[in-house]
This record gives sequence, C-alpha cells and structure tokens, in this order.
Amino acid sequence: MIEKQYLYDRKTIMVATNAFGMGIDKSNVSFVVHYNMPKNIESYYQEAGRAGRDGSQANCLLLYGARDEMTNKYFVENINNNNDLSSLDIEQIKIKNREKLKLMTQYCHTANCLREYILQYFKDETGIQKIKDTNNNCGNCSNCLSVFEEIDITKYGQKILSCIARMQEKYGISLIIDVLKGSKSKKVFSLGLDCISTYGILQELSNDKIKDIINYLAREGYILLTTTEYQIVKLTDKSRDVLFGGEKLFIRVPTQNNNKLYDSDCIGSSLINKKYNYSRDYKSSNFNKDLFKKLRELRLQIAAEQGVPAFVVFSDSTLIDMCNKMPKGNRELLNVSGVGTFKLEKYGQKFLQIINNFNRDDETNYEVSNKNVSYSELLDFVRDNFVLDEKYLTLTSIADKIIALVMQKNVSNFSNKSIRDNIKAILVQHRFIEIEKVNNKSHIVATGKGIQNGVTVENRIGKQGTEYLQVLYETDIQLFLLQRLDMII
Ligand SMILES: [Zn+2]
Repeated sequence: MIEKQYLYDRKTIMVATNAFGMGIDKSNVSFVVHYNMPKNIESYYQEAGRAGRDGSQANCLLLYGARDEMTNKYFVENINNNNDLSSLDIEQIKIKNREKLKLMTQYCHTANCLREYILQYFKDETGIQKIKDTNNNCGNCSNCLSVFEEIDITKYGQKILSCIARMQEKYGISLIIDVLKGSKSKKVFSLGLDCISTYGILQELSNDKIKDIINYLAREGYILLTTTEYQIVKLTDKSRDVLFGGEKLFIRVPTQNNNKLYDSDCIGSSLINKKYNYSRDYKSSNFNKDLFKKLRELRLQIAAEQGVPAFVVFSDSTLIDMCNKMPKGNRELLNVSGVGTFKLEKYGQKFLQIINNFNRDDETNYEVSNKNVSYSELLDFVRDNFVLDEKYLTLTSIADKIIALVMQKNVSNFSNKSIRDNIKAILVQHRFIEIEKVNNKSHIVATGKGIQNGVTVENRIGKQGTEYLQVLYETDIQLFLLQRLDMII
C-alpha cells in the first residue's frame, strides 16, 4: 500500500530495507540514504543507482559505522547452504565475499574520489581515464567537493606497523588496537602481549582513530588484511619502506578538522558532515518553482486518473525544461526534452493550458504597472529584450519571440501571421529570400545573397515522410530584423 503510494508520488519518502530497493522501478528518485553499509560495492551501486534515473540531479548519502562491518562479517561467515555446496566451495565463496566486504569498507573510508573508486572497482577504463584527465577530481562526489589537508601520520603508522611485527603478524585489528592502547584485558595478558615493546605506545589516540589509520594502511597497501575467517593483519614490502626506508605517510582530512583531528569523535562521521553538498540539488537551480508546482499537480492528477506512476506521464527534468522553455504551442512543446509525439498527443494540451494560464497571470501583473506604453518604448523594449541566443530560428519562432515580448507590455494586437508576413516582405525587399509558388502553395527560397548574410536551409523529413527544405535565420538576420522592427510591429 505504502509502496504504491510512493510509486505514484503520493508519498515522497520511503523507508525500507534493501530488499525493497531491488524491486522498485521509479525513475524520479532524487535522494537515496543508506543507513547501513551494504555488503559489497555491487549492492551499493545498484541501490544508490535508483537515484536520478530520469537524468535529474540526485544525491546519495551513505551512513556507516563499525557495527555494519561486524554485521556483514557475520553474514559472510554464516552462509545458508541451501544448495548442498561442498565445504571447499563454501570456503571459496567466503573468501570472495570477505574481499568484497573489505573493498566496501575501504570505500567508506577513502578520502579520494569516490567515483574513481567505483570505476576502478568495475574496471571501467574509459571512465577512469576521464577522471585522470581532470586531476582525479570528478567535481561531484563529496570527497572532490571537500577541501582536504594532508596530515603527516608517519609516526603513528610506524608505531602500528612495528606493533604488528612484534605481534608476529598473527592477530587481527582489535587485538592490535588493544596492545597499542595498553589494554588490561585477559587475552592480552594470557598471550603475554603486555610484555612487548609496543604495548601501550598509542594511548593518546582513541580506538577509532587507530582503526582509521589501520584502514588507511590497508587501503594503500602498507599492510594486508587476510580474507580468512579471523582476519589477520600482515605486513607487506611497502610496510618495510615506512619502518626502515624513511617513507612518509599522509592521511587526507577535511581542513575544518585539521587542528583537532585526533580529538574529534570519528574521522568518518566528520567527513560525512562536510561531504554532503545540498547546493548541488537541482531544486536550487533557476527555474520558476510556482509553475513547476502547478505542472507537478497536473501530472499527479493525470497519473491518478490513469492509474500509472507520475514519472510515466513526464519526468521531473521534463517539467523543469517546460518551465525553462515555456512552450506556447505543440511545436514548441516538442522541443522540450522528454516530449515526443506520443506524449504530446496524450498530455500536451493539458500542460500547455497550465503554462499559458500561468503566462496570462504574469501579464495581468504587467497590466497594472504598464497601462500606457508608447510605440517607441515598445520598440526599445523588444529590441533590448530579444535574446539572440539561438543561432537558427524559423520565421514562426522569431514571430513568437517578438509576440511574447510585446505581450509583456500588455499589447496584444499582433498575430504571428501578420508579423511573419511583415518579416517576409522585408527579406524579399532586400532579396534575402524569394517566394516561389508550387501547386498554388507558396514556399520560401533562400537566395545566394540571403545565404551569404545568414539565411540557412536545412533538409527535413515531414510527418508524411516527405522531404522538405526548412529555411532558418541566423543571429545576423535576427539582428537585421530588429533594426527594422518598426516595419514589423
Ligand atoms: Zn570525485
């Protein structure tokens, strides 16, 4: 029930387990929050990938904690053997899943580009190259949007590595931390680990900080975390470089935590606070929110009538494009991304009506402040506000643009056809175009002079599949016409 309400946009937030996410087919999800760390990158990518399918800006936030790792470890070690797999097969599955969980955990801890991490994981060479070309900064993930500073942690790294060596590379992370912290636990005493020289040498750091550094060392290959049931920490060739070769270790942290890196609660959580950037949300971009709201209401109404989810009618990005382009007729509506002939026929009229009504509301506001506008003021207003941003326009669109501006001054005694006729007359007079009559129908033909001055001809296919030539007017001609505006309106 709730699922259906969510699917049909009657509810905007859905809280569910990941099992729900698998079946959901909804393209306008704009925010996915993970309250747990998934078991591997494949799952995370699939679940987070529910956001932004319609091409709109979307955000994903991954909240994680050490407990998630423990829970996932439990599931990795306790496989349901429904298929009577051999113990060898089971062991191999476990090894594979332990490795995947390790890489998922490292994703949560990395301070490098998160997108690059995922591309590396899926070995997407083209994607990796693209990020390399932009200085390993995708410009969109929380790490790339944060300002980091590199902190020298060489002395901590050396102490940890040397502790691992003195514990003879036989133990896991939690016991290593216990020894470094000088824990008085039974296990430490019974194994005689309180007698080694690294016992209690990192008392100044919290358990979490030590764990963060251990994770960093593993990510960068300075140590190896085995994929055995009880994970053991091993040294690598690179560890020797730090212990004996003078290699320095740097960890990246957001600048705001620079001074009190090891006083704050947890590096991971501070990254999250800093990382998430609301300002990139499309909701803050520049389009008319009131119109968007009205279009959404209509969409919801149609969706309810037809018993389909709202995004099946139009996606959010299509509605936003409508707000930006403010189409007046079918032809202009077809220029809105996500509107094809099928949807135009099915929903076009209703949406155009809302947009046109909205325009009229705007005009009413104008009426109050612009009761008497002189002809020369009107000409100036149109010339000043006609934006020459589209390189190629048809006569109809030029006329539409002029009418839209004229109407802003509460003047409405021009039709698209009368403006088109006036423009044609000017262009014929200057021999930029000629009017040809074929089968009693008149066609515009560009002349050589016209083509030199910005008239363009494009080959197009009409609705019946017949080819025709569309004459278009470049910005030079648009400007030429504006200079003769007094002959047009
Ligand atoms: Zn990035």
